[in-house]
Amino acid sequence: EPVLEVRDLVKHYPVRNGLLRRSVSAVKAVDGVSLTLDRGRTLGLVGESGSGKSTLARVLVGVEPPTSGQVLVDGEDVSRLSRAGRKQLRRDVQMVFQDPYTSLNPRMSVSEIVGEPFAIHGISPAGGRRAAVGELLELVGLDPDHAARYPHQFSGGQRQRVGIARALALRPKILVCDEPVSALDVSVQGQVINLLEDLQAELGLSYLFVAHDLGVVRHIAHDVAVMYLGRIVEQGAEAEVYDGA
Ligand code: ADP
Ligand code: ADP
Repeated sequence: EPVLEVRDLVKHYPVRNGLLRRSVSAVKAVDGVSLTLDRGRTLGLVGESGSGKSTLARVLVGVEPPTSGQVLVDGEDVSRLSRAGRKQLRRDVQMVFQDPYTSLNPRMSVSEIVGEPFAIHGISPAGGRRAAVGELLELVGLDPDHAARYPHQFSGGQRQRVGIARALALRPKILVCDEPVSALDVSVQGQVINLLEDLQAELGLSYLFVAHDLGVVRHIAHDVAVMYLGRIVEQGAEAEVYDGA
């Protein structure tokens, strides 16, 4: 059962050429992509740098509008949602960023970082924000007693756990993970992948997992789509795509 469907999605960026100001061309960052993510599953999105993965991820989490095409979450076209529906959508689809060294605000404590989505969305979690933050930290394997610490007091792997806790605060259905382990030491990459797998099993989450090579994805993805120059050039079950590579 699809939780996310992307139909013929296009995202072009205008480019103004320096000398000929009037000649406007376009970078076809995403050039007609269709994808399906089933509930509780992981779709690996693989492609070399510049193939359009991040652009697709940004459109899916709603920070950039598409040029054309459709995005359906739970069968509903996100461009046709009511105001309340769009608000819910911003809770349902969350992003885990590549680099936990730059994506966490260094001036905020871990408690503030993980609790910020409650503040942004005006939500008072049952039992209070402090308890909710503690539960989220425990969920990702961090000590709730360390909530008052700042990002620089944590290792890379621990920082990425903080980023994951923050992404989970609003109980999303879908996590778009944009190369979530590629900035981490190889020794901790597997731990973060295992955590994501455990969370998927426990919470029924669905993942779009972006990576630049098949190596990481093959351990976590059920299905794989390979992107090249804005298009999906290969798509299938993990084993099929991996065998062909
Ligand atoms: P990937 O994540 O696979 O590295 P990107 O989505 O970052 O790919 O980039 C796809 C293409 O779109 C590249 O040619 C890139 O230069 C271009 N691009 C990305 N973001 C922008 C932007 N904001 N403005 C113009 N071009 C962009
Ligand atoms: P507004 O502030 O005008 O309500 P939004 O920030 O909600 O606009 O959305 C901007 C654009 O991105 C709209 O076209 C909307 O349909 C789309 N959008 C918003 N959230 C998502 C999402 N999670 N996935 C896909 N598209 C989204």
